[in-house]
Amino acid sequence: MKTMTCKTRFAPSPTGYLHLGNVRTALFNALLARREQGSFLLRIEDTDRERSRPEYVAALLEDLRWLGLDWQEGPEIGGPHPPYAQSERAAIYAGYYQRLEERGLVYPCFCSPAELALSRKTQLAAGRPPRYAGTCARLSEAERQARRRRGLQPTLRFRTPPGQLVQFIDLARGPQQFASDDIGDFIIRRADGGPQFFFANAVDDALMGITHLLRGEDHLSNTPRQLLLLEALDLPAPHYGHLALIVGADGGPLSKREGHFSVRELRATGYLPEALLNDLARIGHSYAHDHWMSLAELAEAFTLERLGRAPARYDEAQLLHWQSEAVQCATPERLWAWLESAVAGDVLTTSREAFIAAVRPNIRFPTDAAFWAERLFGAELPLSEESRALVAQTGSEFFAHALAAYVEHGGAYQPLFDDLKRHTGAKGKGLFMPMRAALTGELHGPELARILALMPAELARRRLESAGQ
Ligand code: GLU
Repeated sequence: MKTMTCKTRFAPSPTGYLHLGNVRTALFNALLARREQGSFLLRIEDTDRERSRPEYVAALLEDLRWLGLDWQEGPEIGGPHPPYAQSERAAIYAGYYQRLEERGLVYPCFCSPAELALSRKTQLAAGRPPRYAGTCARLSEAERQARRRRGLQPTLRFRTPPGQLVQFIDLARGPQQFASDDIGDFIIRRADGGPQFFFANAVDDALMGITHLLRGEDHLSNTPRQLLLLEALDLPAPHYGHLALIVGADGGPLSKREGHFSVRELRATGYLPEALLNDLARIGHSYAHDHWMSLAELAEAFTLERLGRAPARYDEAQLLHWQSEAVQCATPERLWAWLESAVAGDVLTTSREAFIAAVRPNIRFPTDAAFWAERLFGAELPLSEESRALVAQTGSEFFAHALAAYVEHGGAYQPLFDDLKRHTGAKGKGLFMPMRAALTGELHGPELARILALMPAELARRRLESAGQ
C-alpha cells in the first residue's frame, strides 16, 4: 500500500442511529487512513428516500465527532468532490447512465416486481441460482415504445458480460472470484429514477478517489457487480475489504434485547468514547497488547493482517472492562465534565480533584460517582444491610472510642487508627471495616484515608455518634 495515496471512507445510510456494527466499520476505515497517513472521507448514502431522515444525518455527524472519528472530507467541511450526500448527486449519476447507454451496456426493463418474484421462485425451485431471466434484454425499440405508452416505468438494467470470472483480492479475506453468469443482468436505476445502491456507491467511490474501503461482509456479493460497472465505465476500482459481521454472545445478529444499543444510548448511559473505541477496535481485529490505547495508538498498531475472518463476537463484559479502563485513564477535567450532571455540585464540600482522586477506582459510570457523592457528603446516610449488621455486631464501645479519637485527631488517618487500635485492641479488618461501614454505609469503596480527608468533620462525627447509639 502506498503511504500517501490511501483514502478510505465511511458511507452510512441515514436510516437509523449509529450502532456498534456500523461504528466499527467507520472506526476501521478511520484507523486505516490514519495508519497510512491518508485521509478519511464521509459520504451520506441517502438514496432511500422513504427511510432516510435528516435527523439521522445530524445524529450520525454528532456521534462520529463525539467518538473522535473526524473526517477530512465530507458534510460540513466540504472538499474537492461535492456534494457529499447522494440525494444531491442525481445529475452526476445521469451522466454515467448515459455513458453506459451510449455503449449499449444497459437496457430498460419493464418487468413488474410480481413477475420478477415468480421467475425467482421458479429458478430456486429448479435448484438454480436466481438471476434475471433476460426478458427485457431482447425487446425491440417498438416493443419498448409500446410498453412506455402503456404507462410502464422501466428500471435500467446493466448487461452483465457472460462467461467472465470477476476476481479481486479482498483486503480482509484474500482472493475472491465470482462467475458473471451467476450474477445476471442487474438493476442500476430504479423505476422511480433513483440510483440502485451499488451503482451510486461504486461511482462515488471512484469519483471521490477512494483507494481502500472496509465494509460489512453483507456487501461482499455487491462487489463483483461494482467491479463490472466500474470497468464498463472506465472508472478506477478501490481495494475492497469485507469484515466479518459482529454477532452476539449467542452467535446471532446483535439485538437490542441483549443490550446492543445505539451509540447515542451508550453515550447517555455514560460510556466514554474511548471505551467504545478500544472495545470495537478489537472486535474482528487483534492487537499485540491488551492495554488501553488512545485513538492515535489504536491507529498506529492497526494492520490489515490482523483482521479476523471468523464472525466477530460482541461481549458486553469486554465493553464494561474498557469503560473501567477509560475512566482510569481520563484526565480529572474530563472526568469532571463527564460526571458533573449526575453529581449535584453543591453536595461536594471539597475540591473536585480530591473527590475524583478518591472515587475514580470505584466508578464506572456517572451514576456511580453520584452514589459516592451521596455517601461521602449526603446529610442522610442509608446503611447497607451488611454495614448495619457489622455496626451492630461491633458494638457501641468501639464507636465511642472512634468518636473520641476523631475529635482528637480529625481526619488524620494514621494517628486516628493508631489511637483506636490502642484503645480497642482491634486490628486489620476488625479495625477498618466497622469504620468504613459507619462512615460510608458500605463495606467496600474508596480508600479510607481519602474518605477521612474528604468528609466534612461535622458529618464524620455525626456518623460515628449514631453508630455508637
Ligand atoms: N450505505 C451502505 C451501508 O450503510 C454502505 C456500504 C459500503 O460501505 O459500501 O451499508
